Amino acid sequence: MSRLNSVIRRLQAQRDCLNAAAEMIKDQDGIVLEVGLGNGRTFDHLREIMPDREIFVFDRQIAAHPKCIPDDDHLFLGDIFETLPKAVERFKGKVALVHSDVGTGDEDLNAKIASFIGSTLPPALMKGAIVASDQKIDVPGTIAEPLPEGVPKDRYFFRRYQ
Ligand code: SAM
Repeated sequence: MSRLNSVIRRLQAQRDCLNAAAEMIKDQDGIVLEVGLGNGRTFDHLREIMPDREIFVFDRQIAAHPKCIPDDDHLFLGDIFETLPKAVERFKGKVALVHSDVGTGDEDLNAKIASFIGSTLPPALMKGAIVASDQKIDVPGTIAEPLPEGVPKDRYFFRRYQ
């Protein structure tokens, strides 16, 4: 497969997963955490498909398209090892969806980040909350949920908090 087709498939799968995750929480109140602003693509999509939800965004730096930067009140700027615990304390039981897209090219670092996110998140999650992630994250108290049709196994991961 050409690299162009590969990128297109990856982004289509990501969009399908975000759309499915939004659908999975449609009957719940609750806020959204977007972990990994990057250039703001997925943040922009999440706010488009969930215009009435509050979305809080995490990144260590702002490198997003100017139109895809959240206001200061919805931005946790800094290393998630410092900012995520503060957000969890603030949003206890109020989070309906977490989208984590912080994968790097470093597998060891990815594993460390995934382990940290998984162990830190649970107090923030409301019953039925979805954790959608680009890396496998073991979140205590959650079970795996199937991916949307056509998304290859291990391309994305869905967990639902019980
Ligand atoms: N979801 C984004 C999008 O669609 O544009 C892409 C996110 S990009 C793949 C990953 C982002 O995670 C980068 O912007 C990086 O700065 C951020 N990141 C990685 N490790 C981090 C950490 N420990 N703390 C805060 N941000 C981190």
